[in-house]
Formats: sequence, C-alpha cells, structure tokens
Amino acid sequence: MLTKLTNYAKKPIAECTNEEIYAALMQLTKDLAAKRPVTSGNRKLYYVSAEFLLGKLLSNNLINLGIREEVSAALKEAGKSLSEIEECENEPSLGNGGLGRLAACFLDSIATLQLPGDGIGLNYHFGLFRQLFREEKQYEVPNPWITDDGWLEKTDVAFTIPFNGFSLKSRMYDIAVLGYEGGANRLHLFDVTTLDEDLVKDGINFDKTDIAHNLTLFLYPDDSDRAGHLLRIYQQYFMVSNAAQYILAQEKAMDHTLKSLDKHVVIQINDTHPSLIIPELIRLLTAEGISTDEAIRIVSNTCAYTNHTILAEALEKWPLEYLEEVVPHLVPIILELDKRVKAKYEDEKLHILDESGRVHMAHMDMHYGFSVNGVAALHTEILKSTELAPFYAIYPEKFNNKTNGITFRRWIMSCNPELCEYITSLIGDGWKKDATELEKLLAFKEDDEVLNRMLAIKENNKKALAKELDLNPDSIFDIQIKRLHEYKRQQMNALYAIYKYFEIKSGKLPARPITMIFGAKAAPAYIIAKDIIHLILCLSKIVREDPEVSPYLKIVMVENYNVTFAEKLIPACDISEQISLASKEASGTGNMKFMLNGAVTLGTMDGANVEISELVGEDNIYIFGESSDAVIEKYAKRSYRSADIYDGDPLVEKLVDFIIDKKMIRIGDPICLGRLYKDIIVKDWFMALLDLRAYIDEKERAFADYENRREWAQKMLVNTAKAGFFSSDRTIAQYNEDIWKL
Ligand SMILES: *Cc1c(COP(=O)(O)O)cnc(C)c1O
Repeated sequence: MLTKLTNYAKKPIAECTNEEIYAALMQLTKDLAAKRPVTSGNRKLYYVSAEFLLGKLLSNNLINLGIREEVSAALKEAGKSLSEIEECENEPSLGNGGLGRLAACFLDSIATLQLPGDGIGLNYHFGLFRQLFREEKQYEVPNPWITDDGWLEKTDVAFTIPFNGFSLKSRMYDIAVLGYEGGANRLHLFDVTTLDEDLVKDGINFDKTDIAHNLTLFLYPDDSDRAGHLLRIYQQYFMVSNAAQYILAQEKAMDHTLKSLDKHVVIQINDTHPSLIIPELIRLLTAEGISTDEAIRIVSNTCAYTNHTILAEALEKWPLEYLEEVVPHLVPIILELDKRVKAKYEDEKLHILDESGRVHMAHMDMHYGFSVNGVAALHTEILKSTELAPFYAIYPEKFNNKTNGITFRRWIMSCNPELCEYITSLIGDGWKKDATELEKLLAFKEDDEVLNRMLAIKENNKKALAKELDLNPDSIFDIQIKRLHEYKRQQMNALYAIYKYFEIKSGKLPARPITMIFGAKAAPAYIIAKDIIHLILCLSKIVREDPEVSPYLKIVMVENYNVTFAEKLIPACDISEQISLASKEASGTGNMKFMLNGAVTLGTMDGANVEISELVGEDNIYIFGESSDAVIEKYAKRSYRSADIYDGDPLVEKLVDFIIDKKMIRIGDPICLGRLYKDIIVKDWFMALLDLRAYIDEKERAFADYENRREWAQKMLVNTAKAGFFSSDRTIAQYNEDIWKL
C-alpha cells in the first residue's frame, strides 16, 4: 500500500505534506471507485432531496472500499496520521440538519445493499452558511466548500430549464457513492452554468432577484420576503425539472417506453421541497404524446412521499400567484390535478388549492403519489390521527411507517474506531453487515472486564475531545447538538444551567463537575432561535468568569456545528439530550448516533425516543415530561398558559427571571434577552416551562446514577447492544420491501 501511495503522490510519503497525501488518497479512492461495477437492475430509485448533508467523504470511502486499516497502517509507517490528513478535507455543506443527514445515510445504505438508486439534488456553492460567534451572537458567512480537485466530477449532462420568459442552462456534477464492501451509485448535483459567486456581499446577502446568477449560491436562502419565497420556488423547480429530464433521458437511453415509467422507476420525494416533480413529469410526458389521464396514472404510480414534520414551516404552501410568476407552464397542470380532487371530495382539507389561493404541496404528493410515510412509529401514528387524518381516511393503504436510521459505517466504524475494534474482538465482525448482531454484547453485561473497558474507551474519547475544547475530562459530558429550534427546547436546557448555577452559588456542589455542551445553527431569520443562542453564550461567559462556579460547571457552545464536529462529540458523550416537546420531533437521528456510541438518553417520549426506550428498557434511559397525547390536547384546547406555571412556581420564576438579571444584561444584549424572557412568559409556544420541573428532577437523577460506575457501564453496554435496529440498512431494506420493490 505504501508503494501504491508513493506512486500516487509521485514522491516518498514521508516527504509529502498532508495536503499532498490527501490528494493522493482521493485519486486512489476515485480510481478504485471507477473500477467498481455500477449497481444496476430492472427498476431504479431516484431519491430527490433539497439536502444531502454528506460530511467528509475520504474516511467513509476508505472504509467502504475496505482499505482504511491498510492505508492507516501504511501512513503510520511513513510517520503520518490518517486522521490529521482527513483534516484537509472541506465538509460539503449541502444540508441543514437531520433531514439532509438522513438522505446521506440512505445513499450509503442503498449502495451497501447493492440496490440501484441515485440521489438528485442541487450543488449549492456556499452551502447553508458558516456560523460565527461574535459578542455572544451568531453571525452568518458563506461556507465555500468546492475545490478544483474535490469529489465533484463534472459530467456532460446538461439541460435547459424553462422559466417565465427565460430559461437557464444546467450542468450535472456527480459524486460517487460507494457501498460497504460492494455497490456503487451516484449522487447527481445540478448547477446553473451562469452562477456568479461575487454576487454575495456583506455576510450572506445578495440580490435575490438575479436568478441566473444566484440560483445555486445557498441552501435555504432567507425567505422572509417575497423575493426570497420566489427564489426558493426557482430552486425547487430547477432541481425537479433537471431530475425529471434526467430520469426520462435515462429511460429512453435504455429503450424503455415512457408508458412503462412506473415499472422501471420509483421517485422518493424527500419532504415537500421536490413536490413540483409531479406536475413537471406530467408536463414532460404529455409533451411526448401521452394523454393527460395516462400521464397522471403513470406519475402517481412512480412517486412516493416522505413526511418529516407536522410543523407548519415544512408543509409548504405556495401562493398560486408565485407559481404563476415563476413556472406558469405548471399552473394549468396543478389546477387540473386540483380540479380532479375537488370533483371527488368536498372536504376543503383535502384540496390542493385552498380558498386563499395557496397550493398545498403535501396534498399534491398524497393524492398523486402511491406511498406516504412518516419517519418513526409515533410520528406516523400522529400523522394518521391528526394532521393527515383526512388523507388517511381516504387512502389508508398509502400510509406506512419507516423509522429512520443511521449508517454505522460513519457513526461508529469511522468516528469511534476504538469501540468498534473492541466490539469486534468480543462478538466478531458480523455486526458490521447485520447490525442486530450487536445484541450479542448483552452476554457481557455482568463481565467486569468488559464493563471496565467500555468505561475506559469512553474516557479516551472524552480525553480527545477535552484536549480540543479545553474541557475537564473527569466531568460528565452532557450534550445537546441539533438545529436550534424552540420545539427542540435548548431554552429548557439553558434554564437547567441557570438552576445548576444557583445551586453551586448556594453551596450545593455537584458530586462531579458537569460539562454542558451545545451545538446548533439558527436559521438566519429565526429571531427567537438566535436569542436562545445569545442566552447560552451569555450563560457560558458568566459561568466561565465566576471562580465560585467554574470548577463545577462549564457551558460550551461549539461554533459551526456540523457533521465533522458531531463525529468528535458523539463518541465522547455521557448523556444525550433529546428533550423536544412530545409530538414535535418526527424522529431524530442524533438520538440513535449517541446510543450506538454508549451514551445514555435523557429525553421525552417523542419521535424515535419512544422506540429507543422500548428497546433498552426503563433502567437504561431517563424519560420525563408530558405525553404527546397530553400535549396535542393542550394545543387543541388552547389550554396551555406558561404564565400560570411561572406565577405558580417560585423556582421557575427565579430561573426565568435570571434571563434579564443585571449580571446578564451587563454582558448581553438587553433587547434579545428581554424579547426571549417575554416570549417564555407570555407565549412559550413549545412549552419549555411545562416540563421544566420534571426535567430538572430527571437530570439530577441521571447525574446521581452516573456515580455508580458499574451500573452506568451496564447502561452504556445495553444502549450499544440495542442500537442495531437503528441501522439505516434496516430502514432501507424496509423502504425497498414495502415501497420501492427494486
Ligand atoms: C445527526 C445530525 C443532525 C440531526 O440531529 P437531531 O438531534 O436528530 O436533530 C443534525 N446535524 C448534524 C450535523 C447531524 O450529524
């Protein structure tokens, strides 16, 4: 291997810079990837998604090619470290959070199961944004990640995409997707040929009306105004028109008649962003001489929809007027689809075009797709009984659940090599292909040597993170990392930090120091989310600068949380914070990554936490808070008033009041802190105060239990052993069995 690498680098590895070795490894990987037969079959999946949050690719590709150990050893021989070389890679910034990361895990598993399935998305040059903290606040700047010699391969595939009175030329770029020990698919990312990166001035601001030059600059450009909304529709249509044209071109190239499209193709619509692919395909098929009835039938048998949330923000409803402005050629088709629905159903809740002239994208997906799935058992049940109940009543056969999963190649084999090796030494390596074999670990639950090794590995991972972030490795690492959103309740965790601060101030010292770690980006226009970041950063500073408190409590918010950061944080975590308001988190996948790496969950009965708690049993998880049924009822009756809790509980009052204490105002922004304080008391839409008491109590119980190291190690072991169900290989096998039938 060392000789091979030397040939690629064209000089002795010992004399190369890390950048040179990285370039050599990338070329080696690409050459090996090109040699792998592309997975093919009679029926092909296209997974269309606005996001693919890939993470760095080198390490995963080396694992999936089966050469990581060999490469790592060869580099060591030359005095080089693979993990340092990996630092040279930019993380592609093509996603926002869980939904995009799920798409990336799915591509890995689809390839690994050797199913023919490609991803289709957009090639955002500046990604979401890079997060900076200045004066305890978030600022956004572009996150350029594309380099001349990166993973993107320019193809000769190009299309013309029609808009209102003009058209744009596209170009397809590919990233190879390799399966673990076999399988090769592609991720196709479309770009405009006319993009102008210099359009971006001052942070992430740019002329939102200059479509030819701005279309693929950013993922989720600010949509707080009309121009922003229109730009998102331009992006969505650009994505799906390219996807549809590409899919039909592939079918023609294989001499398949388009009338049998549904026999050879299945399209998974990941959330509502790609929904316009339905009218676009109908448009293209009818342009080929297929009748409207026939085109609708074919498309309906080809498309399947995944719902990721019941929050209104993700159930997109575009004003018809916007669609008329951007894609007037789709409007007659959408109206025809709506007319057919209205002829059949009077209930307005089922209509595509509502009385205020808004087009409900999810409604189109459910009427004109053959499958609708939620992403965790509880989420699917809530969809059926509340949000989508009218659709479930008419299409019960379309509804199904596919509990999310994560790829174990990235989320243990790559990020936690020591644990991975130890598990293999105990139970063999069958678990790498069949994750349920992790249950064999349960046989070691009473084995002190194994339990001690589990603790030692966790300690090593904590030491590595402690070195990087300047932490006390002997403290408890309590971690909440995920997008910033009120429903995820980072504010409730911050109120716990205030509680602990007061406790320490009054002399009630914790048995062991506590390190609270946060990581989260807030959407640039989401004011309260940014206020919560400000709160956490101010608390972090107050605690850091208080010599009475700082030996016992540390609050850290990592800047620009991303996949690379997650891979360092998760193996080092003791307590995994999954504290969303019950009924609001569709699934979560962070919760799965943590449990796999031996963290114990502190969470609500929400999303996949419900399935985690069933698997590990109540001794191995910390559950608190109101049930989803109770929460749903509070919304229905509008009976929740946070002020009642604030007024009725002196402790809650004291904690919330600290947000605007003079200590806070001295270092923070009184406008942000005052706005957040008021919001929590008069609104608290996601009910942080509802569960605050129960949260504090349960967290204290977890911290106390942590001191029984043997019992804690048993909890860790059970969590890892039971994580097999959450392999995305299982999820994808179920998609294939029930929906795709590849
Ligand atoms: C897994 C992951 C997420 C999703 O986390 P949740 O806790 O499920 O919301 C978000 N961002 C990154 C970088 C991730 O790796």
